[in-house]
Amino acid sequence: MAMKYISTRGGVKPMCFTDAVMSGLADDGGLILPQEVPVVADRLDEWQNLEYPQLANAVMDLYSDLDPAIQWSIIQDSYRQFRSSQVAPVIKAGEIHILELFHGPTLAFKDIALQFLGRLFEHILNSRDEYMNVLGATSGDTGSAAIYGVKGRERMSIFILHPSGRVSPVQERQMTTVMDKNVHNLAVGGTFDDCQRIAKDIFCDLDFKNRYQLGSVNSINLARLLPQIVYYFYAFFTVRKATGCQKVSFSVPTGNFGDIFAGYLAYRMGLPIKQLILATNENDILHRFFSTGIYGISSVKPTLSPSMDIQVASNFERYLFYRMNSDSNKVREVMDRFRRDGEIRIEPQKGAAVDPLIVSGKSDEATVLKTIRKFHVEHGYLMDPHTAVGVSVGESLSSGNVPVICLATAHPSKFPDAIHRATGADIAHHPLIDALKDKPSRFENVPPETSAVKDYIAASALNLIYS
Ligand SMILES: *Cc1c(COP(=O)(O)O)cnc(C)c1O
Repeated sequence: MAMKYISTRGGVKPMCFTDAVMSGLADDGGLILPQEVPVVADRLDEWQNLEYPQLANAVMDLYSDLDPAIQWSIIQDSYRQFRSSQVAPVIKAGEIHILELFHGPTLAFKDIALQFLGRLFEHILNSRDEYMNVLGATSGDTGSAAIYGVKGRERMSIFILHPSGRVSPVQERQMTTVMDKNVHNLAVGGTFDDCQRIAKDIFCDLDFKNRYQLGSVNSINLARLLPQIVYYFYAFFTVRKATGCQKVSFSVPTGNFGDIFAGYLAYRMGLPIKQLILATNENDILHRFFSTGIYGISSVKPTLSPSMDIQVASNFERYLFYRMNSDSNKVREVMDRFRRDGEIRIEPQKGAAVDPLIVSGKSDEATVLKTIRKFHVEHGYLMDPHTAVGVSVGESLSSGNVPVICLATAHPSKFPDAIHRATGADIAHHPLIDALKDKPSRFENVPPETSAVKDYIAASALNLIYS
């Protein structure tokens, strides 16, 4: 029987996969989860020699209700254009195994899910004869991965708000050099907070949202998480074959808790994970939670790893649901309290960690630069600053007796300034990034006002074509 999906807050009827994907957030304000996590511990040997797309297909079979031929073609199509035939290869650098997730079109791990999600949306919209206008705010990485997932797709347009002149030159060019007609880059004369506020205001105007069939591609969408489960299995198989190990640990550079939550689901599915190492930069709300049991808001500080500069982790509620033994009443209570007081407290049992599976640490700027330099000098391996957060925390928390797999979430060429500071040389290049310099770019300037963005969407949204 096909998997049903529920809300962390218990206020909606179990729904099918397609409805779960299309609704993003559940109608009761909760996040969507599978009703039951399928356990596959007895299928590991059967799966271990599958190629990446086949493994992705086997994992998605457990969760989706898509026609098998359509699902397989969406998956093949999503990963065909990755620049590594393995999609997510594992490289050994010293004692550390590095899982490279940046071989997609925008050189960041978000491609693995967003390439799939764009095609999945297109298929669902075709079969329902509907259209969608994707709206999102970005401080950098998510915008380009979302644009590349949606560009040129039928029945979809995408509107990405970025703070004018305040994203890195590489990130700006990645977004604004896409010339497809269904891609709209809005350079907002303000900060990232203005962009987020405007997007939120627009989503809250239900009339407007429904009239223009607004959709979201941020990581609260279940279909952003499921494709990320696959590489935890794939990396385990790769490292088990190389070392003969029976268990592994993963170190995950973490912002919104999406990537590491996919690892948590893999664990619940029966993947033999000893520890999930949660690595943050100086924006350490999650590290503070896993080391003290207190989850409290503080202000955002800009760092060398901007995609992890978050205040509140949008996927954390999914973890809380399991932490509270699937008691949605309790989740609702805790989230209400969090909205009121800006704080959640979970009392660890005496002497015990908040969660024996999840250990955490944080890495500051000096450590990130030192780690990039050290791996470059000692192992000839160049990593980006997000990856360096995971590697430095992974090294310091590794218990030594199982292999540690560090997730490499972006290619170093996306962050040339940090690489230059770390190594003293201009060595972070990739032909795709270098080529952006000569491409024409296109964006629309808008003032930091909700009404201005609404006007722009109203004038260019897709429903004008369909109605
Ligand atoms: C988004 C992102 C992260 C953080 O992932 P989460 O799922 O938000 O925890 C880490 N590194 C890079 C390069 C990213 O783009």
